[in-house]
Amino acid sequence: MDYFNYRGAELYAEELKVADLALKYGTPLYIYSKATLERHVRAFEEALKGRPHLVCYAVKANSNLAILELMASMGVGFDVVSAGELSRVLRAGGRASDCVYSGVGKRRDEIAFALKAGIRCLNLESEAELEAVSAVARELNVVAPVAVRVNPDVDARTHPSISTGLKQNKFGIAFERAYAVYERIAADPHLKVSGIDCHIGSQMTSGAPIVEATQKLLDLYGRLRTLGISIDHIDIGGGLGVTYGDETPPSPYEYMQAVLSKIGDPELAVFVEPGRAMVANAGILVTETLYLKDQGDKRFAIVDAGMNDLIRPALYNSWMNIIEVQKSADKSEKRLYDVVGPVCESDDFLGRERRLAVKEGDFLAVRGAGAYGMAMASTYNSRPLCAEIMVDGDRVHVIRDRQSLEDLWRGEHLLNGE
Ligand SMILES: *Cc1c(COP(=O)(O)O)cnc(C)c1O
Repeated sequence: MDYFNYRGAELYAEELKVADLALKYGTPLYIYSKATLERHVRAFEEALKGRPHLVCYAVKANSNLAILELMASMGVGFDVVSAGELSRVLRAGGRASDCVYSGVGKRRDEIAFALKAGIRCLNLESEAELEAVSAVARELNVVAPVAVRVNPDVDARTHPSISTGLKQNKFGIAFERAYAVYERIAADPHLKVSGIDCHIGSQMTSGAPIVEATQKLLDLYGRLRTLGISIDHIDIGGGLGVTYGDETPPSPYEYMQAVLSKIGDPELAVFVEPGRAMVANAGILVTETLYLKDQGDKRFAIVDAGMNDLIRPALYNSWMNIIEVQKSADKSEKRLYDVVGPVCESDDFLGRERRLAVKEGDFLAVRGAGAYGMAMASTYNSRPLCAEIMVDGDRVHVIRDRQSLEDLWRGEHLLNGE
């Protein structure tokens, strides 16, 4: 459920016509709906009500400062994977004490930065990293709160590129080793056991894999308790899927209910790290149709947004819904198009074989573009990063200026040093 809906033939973002926004702010343009973001935050908060908990929004899904600011203002914490993401959170008014830090390759300077900032928990992804965290904590004369990111060897039953909880994936510490690693942590004066963590994959459309993973974490939790190692939180990671097409993922409430029903101890805090489910359907990418091209057995709609603006279709072959911003009254005009961008790569497409009624100059919108859209954008082909706006009722906040051409080479130098 989101706030991008048609009124008659016109697509609206909350109270505003998308076509008007595209004309005013230019294309390609990311448009977010504030009401949709708030709705998603509330859905997770409601699902965890009455339990000690922390919803940690996964910053990597969309790291725009205004989105982080909105989340922080609603009491949401964050899952960060770099010092850059933690800095963004702090800049946006979030607190390090509400952040968990994941990722297989944290550098020592990043670990130090997080510890000095007062991070809530470092999620350890290897035993080598454990030693690094211990050494940095010793240097800083602090005690680092840590969790072991367990690789539970559970199949998230999602796209292989976004599956992370299998033994063959680089993430986490093998379930069989986790117990021994906790013993090492407990014995280290510069480390403090805080939680147990996992993250098994993304775009999961069933709750079953996460329930299976939770059960494994709880078995470990029970064993650690008998040893006198106490855990203050269990972090089930992110991964709840969204509807791009015909997927029917559980609601945040159903998803969390399935997990919570397994967790007996009412004192044990539950952390969850949703990224996609928070932001995907709160954003659209609006693009203008530049040219139509008929190649005999294929028709192309060439649009002004490309894989540099939205790489999910090219990277994962993801299907994203492409809709007309102003629907044509005449349905007979609908034809099958490959919707492709201007980038010089054959994989530069937004959607293949889409039935659309479109003319040159018409705007199209890619739905579900709020997650892993702008966050993965690049300037490939020297295309400036596009603008982002957030609609709030009938108001607009520009939350990222469109890059200028000069921005493209900021920080570069000619050979004479200029
Ligand atoms: C990417 C990631 C998330 C968020 O995943 P979504 O599928 O977007 O919910 C959460 N936790 C970790 C550790 C991640 O790497």
